[in-house]
Amino acid sequence: MSEILEADVVVVGAGVHGSSAALHLARAGKKTILLEQFTVPHSRGSSHGQTRIIRQTNFGTPALAPLLEDSYKQWKAIQAQAGDVLLRPSPLLVLGTKEKQPLMEQMAESVRESGHVPQWLAPAHVNNMFGLECGGDAMAFLDPSGGVLMADKCVGALQRLFRAAGGMLLDGWPVAEIKVEPEGSVEVRGQRGKVRAASLVLCPGPWAAPLLGKIGLHLPVRVERISVLYWRVKDSRRTTTTSFVDVSDDRGHFYGLPDIEYPGLVKVCFHGGPEVHPDQRDKCDGREIRERVMQYVQKKFPCLEPQPVIEESCMYTTTPDEECIVDTHPKYKNIIFAAGFSGTGFKIGPAVGRILSLLAQGHPLPYDLSEFSLSRFSKSKI
Ligand SMILES: Cc1cc2nc3c(=O)[nH]c(=O)nc-3n(C[C@H](O)[C@H](O)[C@H](O)COP(=O)(O)OP(=O)(O)OC[C@H]3O[C@@H](n4cnc5c(N)ncnc54)[C@H](O)[C@@H]3O)c2cc1C
Repeated sequence: MSEILEADVVVVGAGVHGSSAALHLARAGKKTILLEQFTVPHSRGSSHGQTRIIRQTNFGTPALAPLLEDSYKQWKAIQAQAGDVLLRPSPLLVLGTKEKQPLMEQMAESVRESGHVPQWLAPAHVNNMFGLECGGDAMAFLDPSGGVLMADKCVGALQRLFRAAGGMLLDGWPVAEIKVEPEGSVEVRGQRGKVRAASLVLCPGPWAAPLLGKIGLHLPVRVERISVLYWRVKDSRRTTTTSFVDVSDDRGHFYGLPDIEYPGLVKVCFHGGPEVHPDQRDKCDGREIRERVMQYVQKKFPCLEPQPVIEESCMYTTTPDEECIVDTHPKYKNIIFAAGFSGTGFKIGPAVGRILSLLAQGHPLPYDLSEFSLSRFSKSKI
C-alpha cells in the first residue's frame, strides 16, 4: 500500500553520513525520516564491512582538521552511548620510500600540526616490528593519532540511537523522484509512496550522480569497485600488528589492517579500482587489481600467504581532487547533499552529520566548508 508521510526533514541514504545526519536532526527535535533503498544492514554501498581506519591527522587537507577533531570526539561519545566497542585506538604506520621523501615529510608535518608526534622508524626496525620486508630506501613513521573504527557496528549504533531519539528509518524504500513544491517544501517519491518535508538531505553514496542529476546537479564523480582482500598469516609471532598506509607506489597507495576482522587474516588493499555503475558492482573484472595487490604482498609481506583467501567488494565515489562534496543546492536552500568521499570519508561521518543537520535547519556552521563546495568544479548545470 502506498504511504504518504510528513516530516520536518527527510534524509535519503542510510550509510554512515545519512545515518549520522538523521541522528543529529532527531536529537535537535526535528521529525526526521531516513529512507534507505535496501534492507538494512546491507553490503551494497560504501559503509559496510567490519573496519575503517581513523586518524586525527589531515595529511595535507587543513580544512579537514576541525571535522577530524569533532568526529573523533563524537565517535567516543557514540561508543559510550551505544555500549559497544566502536573505536580501537592504535597507531597508524605510514610507509614510503626516499623517493617520496617530500610527501612523507608533509604527512609527518600534518601529524605534528594535529598535536601529535610522528615516530620515525628505521627500515630494519619496521621489518622486525611488523613482519615486513621494506628495502633500505624505505621511510616510515607511526602516526599515534590512528585507530580503527568497527564500521558495521558504527552504522548500526547510529541507526539505533536515531530510532531511540524518535527518528523513523524506513528501509527497502528507494527514492525514484524528487519534487520541489511551489511553496518550497520537498517531496520524495518511490514505489512505497511519498514523503513530504520542509528540508531534504541527500547522502546517496555511489548513487549520488544519478540521484542529484534529478535536481539539476552535475557531480563529477567516478564510482570505483574496491577489492577488499584478506591474506592468511603464516606465523602469528611475526606479522603486522598495526594498520598501515603505504604511499611508495606511483600508481596509488596500498593500505591494510591487522587480523581484527577474521582471526588469522590480515586485510591488504589497493586504494582504487575499475569504474563501475553502482547497480552492477559485481559485474566488473577485479583481476588486475587483485594481481597488483598480490605482487605487493609477495614483495613486502613475507609474513602472509601469497594468495588472498577472501575477497569482498565495496565502492568508492571519487571526485577529481579526491576531497568530498558537502553543499547546499544553489537554487533550493532546503536541499542539502554530501557525496564523493573518495575512499576516506567514514571517519568524518559524525562531523558531516552535524554539518548537514545545521544546514538543514538553516543554522550557521562552526567552520568554513568552501573547500568542499560543488561549485569548486564549476560544472553545476542549473
Ligand atoms: C573498501 C573501503 C575501504 C574504506 N576505508 C576507509 C577508511 O579506512 N577510512 C575512512 O575514513 N573511509 C574509508 N572508506 C570510505 C568510507 O567508507 C565512505 O566514504 C563512506 O562509507 C561513504 O558513506 P556514505 O554514507 O556517503 O555512502 P554509503 O555508505 O554508500 O551510503 C549511501 C546509502 O544511500 C542509499 N541510497 C542511494 N540511493 C538511494 C535512493 N535513491 N533511495 C534510497 N536510498 C538510496 C544506498 O543504498 C546507501 O545505503 C572506505 C571505503 C571502502 C569502500
